[in-house]
Amino acid sequence: MLELRESRYDRQERIWWWDQSKLSSSRVLVVGAGALGNEMVKNLCLVGVGQIDVVDMDLIEHSNLARCALFREEDEGQPKSHALVGRAASINPEVTLRAFACRVQELGSGWLRQYDLVIAGLDSREARLWVNAACRRLGKYWIDGAIEGLQGLVRVFGPGGACYECTLGEVDLAALSHRRSCAILSPAEIASGHTPTNATTASVVAGIEVQEAIKLLVDRPDLLALQGRVWRLEGESMMTTLIEYIEDPMCMAHDRVTEWADPPEAIESLAQACSALRTKSGGPVEAVYFTDDVLTIEPCALCGRGESLVGLRSVMPDGAARCANCGADRPVDSRSSLGLDDPLAVAPWAEWHWPRSELVGLRMSTGIVHMVLEGEA
Ligand SMILES: [Zn+2]
Ligand SMILES: [Zn+2]
Repeated sequence: MLELRESRYDRQERIWWWDQSKLSSSRVLVVGAGALGNEMVKNLCLVGVGQIDVVDMDLIEHSNLARCALFREEDEGQPKSHALVGRAASINPEVTLRAFACRVQELGSGWLRQYDLVIAGLDSREARLWVNAACRRLGKYWIDGAIEGLQGLVRVFGPGGACYECTLGEVDLAALSHRRSCAILSPAEIASGHTPTNATTASVVAGIEVQEAIKLLVDRPDLLALQGRVWRLEGESMMTTLIEYIEDPMCMAHDRVTEWADPPEAIESLAQACSALRTKSGGPVEAVYFTDDVLTIEPCALCGRGESLVGLRSVMPDGAARCANCGADRPVDSRSSLGLDDPLAVAPWAEWHWPRSELVGLRMSTGIVHMVLEGEA
C-alpha cells in the first residue's frame, strides 16, 4: 500500500493565518551574518522562505563560534555570508540561498527592489540608517534587531509612520555625519565589534524578528505587533516593554519613489544615459540627484600622486581621501546633485565607484523620475 508522506510544513500550516505558498515564493534579504543573522537564516530556512540572500562584509573570528549557531571551527577566516549560506543549505533543500561578502551599501538601494522584506542583525548605526533610507524610498518594510549583554530590541519600520531616522536625535545624526566624513580619511576607524553579547539573547531577539517577518511575508501586516514600535527585553529581570515611536514630520528620510524610468541598455556617461531617456519620455533631464553624496577626489596637492576618483560616498574605499604617498589630505569635492552641463556628467561611467544597482533622481519639467544605474561594486 502506498504510504502518503505528510507535508514538511504540516504543523505550521495548521496556524490559522499561515500561507505556505506565499512564504515559499517570497524573497528576503538578511543584512548581517553574525549571531542574529545565523539565527534568522536558520528560522527563515526552517519555515520555508523561498529565497534568502545574506550580505555581510566580515570574516569569521574564533570568538564568533560561541554565539553563531551555524558556524564551525573550520569556517574560521571565511566570509560570514558564504559560510552561513553554505551551512544553512542543508536545513531545507527547498530554499534558495545566496551570499554577498560586501557591505549592504555596495549592493545599492536599486538592488533592494527585488526583495519582499529586509531583515537586519547589524551592529552599525550607519548601516541601519542606510537600510532605513533605502527601504523607505522604495516603500518597503524592514525589521531591525539589536542585542547587548542580555538586553535586546526588535522593531519594524514600514512604508509609513515613524522610521529609524525619526528615532534618532539631532546629536546622533550629527555624530553619524561626522563619522561618515572621517571614514574617507582614516580607514578601519569604524566597527568595534566587541559589544558583550551571547547566544541565548541572539536566539530570542532573532526569533522575534522572524516572527514579525513571517506575518509580513504571508501578506498579513494587520497582524504585526511591532510596526513603529520597539519591543525591549531586559534578560536579567525578564522585563519586556513595548514603546510606540513618534513620527517626525521633519524627517529627511520620508521621500518615496513614485515614478521609474528604464535606463538605456549601455551607459557611457550620465549625460548619455539622460539624453537616451529624453528620446523615450519626451522631457529633457534638468538635473540628476543622488541618494548619497558624490565625491570627487583629486590627486595629492602636496606631492601630486594618486589618481582622480569619482563615485558615491557609500562605496568609496575607506581612506581614499588620504594620500598613500605622503599622508596629506587630498582635495575632495562633494555634491548631492549634478547639472548636465557639469564636466562630471560626461565622465566615463566605467570610472565611477558605484554600487551594483543604485538609483538616481532625474529632475524633469514634469517632476522627479527615478532610474536605476548599475555599477561594478
Ligand atoms: Zn523618519
Ligand atoms: Zn601626497
